[in-house]
Amino acid sequence: MNTIVLKNDNLYLEFEASNGALIGLTAVNTGWKMLDRSQLGLSFRLLIPLPGRRNNPVYGEKQKVSDIHVSPDNSSAVFVWNGVASEYGGRHDIKLTMEVKLNAEQVIYAVHIDNNSEYTVENVYCPYLGDIQHPPADKQFEAFIYNYGSAQQWALWPIYQNTRGYYGVDYPMQFGPPSACGAPTAPFCLLHGATQGLYVGVYEPSAELVAWHTELRPGYGSSIDSRVPEEFNISGKDVATRFAAVHVPYIQPGESRDLTPIMLQTFEGGWQKGVDIYKQWRNSWMKTSEVPTWAMEPHAWQQIHINSSEDELRIPFRDLVKIGEDCARNKVKAIQLVGWNDGGQDQGNPSHDPDPRLGTFEELREAIAKIQSMGVKVVLFSKFTWADRATERFRKDLIKLAVKDPYGDYYMHQGYQYQTATQLLDINTKRLIPMCFLSEEYLRVCEEEFKKVLELGADGILFDECLHHGPALLCFDTSHGHRYGAPVYANDRKLIQNFARMVQDKPDFLFAGEACYDWEFEAYHLSYHRSESKYHIPLMRYMLPNMPIMTAVTGFNDRNMINQCLMYRYIISYEPYNFKGRLGDFPETVAYGRQMDALRTELRDYFWDGEFRHECGAAVFTMDGQPYRPYAVFINAKSGRAGVVIANYDEYDGVTVKVELDNADSLERYRLVDDDQWKSVEEGISIPPCSAVVII
Ligand SMILES: [Zn+2]
Repeated sequence: MNTIVLKNDNLYLEFEASNGALIGLTAVNTGWKMLDRSQLGLSFRLLIPLPGRRNNPVYGEKQKVSDIHVSPDNSSAVFVWNGVASEYGGRHDIKLTMEVKLNAEQVIYAVHIDNNSEYTVENVYCPYLGDIQHPPADKQFEAFIYNYGSAQQWALWPIYQNTRGYYGVDYPMQFGPPSACGAPTAPFCLLHGATQGLYVGVYEPSAELVAWHTELRPGYGSSIDSRVPEEFNISGKDVATRFAAVHVPYIQPGESRDLTPIMLQTFEGGWQKGVDIYKQWRNSWMKTSEVPTWAMEPHAWQQIHINSSEDELRIPFRDLVKIGEDCARNKVKAIQLVGWNDGGQDQGNPSHDPDPRLGTFEELREAIAKIQSMGVKVVLFSKFTWADRATERFRKDLIKLAVKDPYGDYYMHQGYQYQTATQLLDINTKRLIPMCFLSEEYLRVCEEEFKKVLELGADGILFDECLHHGPALLCFDTSHGHRYGAPVYANDRKLIQNFARMVQDKPDFLFAGEACYDWEFEAYHLSYHRSESKYHIPLMRYMLPNMPIMTAVTGFNDRNMINQCLMYRYIISYEPYNFKGRLGDFPETVAYGRQMDALRTELRDYFWDGEFRHECGAAVFTMDGQPYRPYAVFINAKSGRAGVVIANYDEYDGVTVKVELDNADSLERYRLVDDDQWKSVEEGISIPPCSAVVII
């Protein structure tokens, strides 16, 4: 066997020269052997559909390399395949060039394809790892991928979590949901245990679809609890967990394409250390948007919904002033107004005309101006992602600008149900059709709709569902002016950048979105999500420590969500009755929220302007030495000293804990959100049920 070795300070890679398969992969610092059985080596995999046989793969490990060039210092290797043979289509004139390039810490895979065959190259798996063994010392091994402001984590070992229908695959496998399966929304993936992991991410800010994929071969040992076979070989079959970056480029006959380069790097520590690799790369090219000053201050919002697709028509425009008065009285800075548009929430999209049953355009404009005169901002809920399928406008006109699948049909989102049993039983739900943002004509439609928001005098928009085009990923309607199979997320930022040019004279105008994915913060100022879980992972907060992120607080005595807001630097969005009520409906929640906001305003150098580090920089223990969560470390913006927030989510029992900082500094005193007495940490930090403390 003729092998090629590439090595840097982070990874050791061994390739079989005859077929380019990666047959060995080891973390240099820890000796973690991810792949060490040469028979499992893989290089790439293609999908080349034939007429009458769509599922026609090319297995890279079966293809002889035509040419290899290894740099004299062993920092790069270029493998060339002049033609490939598919399983059912024979030889194809498809040239594949795979460059594996190492810098000091990273390995970068870059693939170029010249398709001179008569068929389309639809999928490319590369890098394609034949096995990823768990780190030897770790008791669990997981995949970690961004989703909705947080992370989705799937077990890889000792149990393996399947994420697609058993009926459709031979092996248990993992792909994320369309909206969070890979780049651009989830630009990296971690495969990690408690002590170390492997980072895999895109190495170019490209909107091209790259999905993260794992597969358990040959399958479960014991299926009753989804258990990975304990042995390396079962029934004569190697047990292995494959990993691939799956590109879906639809390279047409006669076309050449560079695929998005993919970077690999191992890390030691928890997921935060893996995310640090991403942040360093992203900060090398991306700048976040300049946020209006008012939104960078500690403040709170109320979200209020005034109509739905089942016609509640709750508050006429002229009566909205009383919501403004509630906010002014309770020092709530901004209102997110929902359901003001013609048809109510999730009906009539993409229309941004005010609903005439709630009042006139002028009445809404006046209400907004009156609320503004009380010092309260009015941000209008808006939505450009969909068209309501049941409208004449869609059926006659907008249908031509809808995202189309390879069959020429539009995709469809199931929509959302409101209020009546009929609709909650999904009998008359308004179905939502993803519209193509790659169509310049549709972008003009959006600008016309956005103009209405401007003419109403709003302080901003909150673009609900700006985070996805679900279930659409690619658009195949070339009459929109894009290529066949183009990525529909590509203009997510451009839409907002176009809007921003229309409000150049209004530097305070806010562009907020729902659960903005990382790259959207290049255009968006503020992100709203929902995070009601004791186990919520504040991934987006960790990725962007200082961008405004807001979360829903809906409970009538919602101390734990307010504690979460303090801990993760989330802006409170007060939403009694699931955003159908008024602030006076939950006085306990508002009172505790105001105490919390006062505390973080007073200590803003730590807990507002400081850098959020999550669990990095300190460890928290119970008095008998057990690790304690949740907590968060902030680095004071002025002094550089650490401050810590610790929450006790338990409803019944108090807890006493101690904090150890990683550096030589010490913390001296602590106080509760709702008790302004400072206490010494000497005897331990006592936290009553449903409470939180700050420690400095
Ligand atoms: Zn299109």
